[in-house]
Amino acid sequence: MKNKNQNFETKCVHAGIKEYEFGPVVPPIYQTSTFKFKSTSHGASLFKGEEEGYIYTRMGNPTIEAMEDAVAELEGGYKALGCGSGMAAIHTCLVSLLNHGEHLICSKAVYGPTNTLIKNVLSKFNIETTFVTTSKIEDIKNAVRPNTRVIYIETPGNPTLEIADLGETAKIAKSINAKLVVDNTFMSPALQQPLTLGVDIVVHSMTKFLNGHADVVAGIIVVKDKETYTLFRKTLNQLGGVIDPFNAFLVHRGLKTLSIRIEKQCKNSMQIAEYLENHTKVEWVRYPSLKSHPEYEIGLKQHKGHGAMISFELKGGFNAGETMMNHVELCQLAVSLGGVETLIQHPASMTHLSMGKDARKEAGITDGLVRLSVGIENVDDIIADIDHALSKII
Ligand SMILES: *Cc1c(COP(=O)(O)O)cnc(C)c1O
Repeated sequence: MKNKNQNFETKCVHAGIKEYEFGPVVPPIYQTSTFKFKSTSHGASLFKGEEEGYIYTRMGNPTIEAMEDAVAELEGGYKALGCGSGMAAIHTCLVSLLNHGEHLICSKAVYGPTNTLIKNVLSKFNIETTFVTTSKIEDIKNAVRPNTRVIYIETPGNPTLEIADLGETAKIAKSINAKLVVDNTFMSPALQQPLTLGVDIVVHSMTKFLNGHADVVAGIIVVKDKETYTLFRKTLNQLGGVIDPFNAFLVHRGLKTLSIRIEKQCKNSMQIAEYLENHTKVEWVRYPSLKSHPEYEIGLKQHKGHGAMISFELKGGFNAGETMMNHVELCQLAVSLGGVETLIQHPASMTHLSMGKDARKEAGITDGLVRLSVGIENVDDIIADIDHALSKII
């Protein structure tokens, strides 16, 4: 059957696909909420877990499982759990791992709603969190407490693109018997495979690179062993944040082009980052392939390519950001990332406006900061659009 030594591009096209009635090349969409039992004893053995099969779509569905198996294979995991959004995946994962009164260490540069989930929801259950700069390994070590059970990292971080050393962090987690969870949304398994570096669990917003077409909201958790899988599956079934068969089908379709999309996006990004670094209206550029990136060396060690996310600071601050946003035409002024279309946004005037200037400063969100998610368009067209918008800044 499957050749374990297949290369990543090949796995993207074929992973997770099984044999189905009538021999379709693509997994059928089993758009059904429930599955018939052959008899009471069949139903009983499915419920007891003695026999493999499907009962009810919240508990499992062949279309969803095909996509889950594909992502698990691409990440080098044992199994995966498809969720209705990245946030559902993160919530299910943290709630499964943490008990009342335990301690969590989390990246400071974490996705905004993850920060809010930790501060507003987990805190209700007396789970304490220390937010640290996870690009500084000493800061992680110093945050450890006797009851630390989980270290949660996003790398590269959002929107600062700071990079945490996953191998070194995995050693700390192991030494204190805590689980290391990594949000791999920004890189995808095409560029970074945390499980191979000693990380225990990977989560994703599949809304971004994995689906890649800006038409689905979905998430996933990838685990390394059966025990964790069983624990997470029970929690997911109880919390109910599952993906539906149609979205699972769309994500599985998107995965087939993951490798080729990312390759083009990395290539475009490098050219755009270099263009920006030489532009007189740009103060600085953060992109992991640039030697000016503070964790350039760590990036080289753990990335196969440096992704499609670029942050840069405009010299004119807040007003320059607004001017640029209002003059792009090809680059879409929108949040989210990882799709085939180039997206641009200015956190200070958009996503992080309500945070207030001081809190923004603390989170590294300066007034002229612009975030770009580079798509697969011809790079000359993207640069021409950026160039035109930058020329409007006075
Ligand atoms: C978008 C995103 C999430 C949340 O995912 P949703 O699918 O929007 O719920 C989590 N982490 C990162 C890094 C993201 O970019």
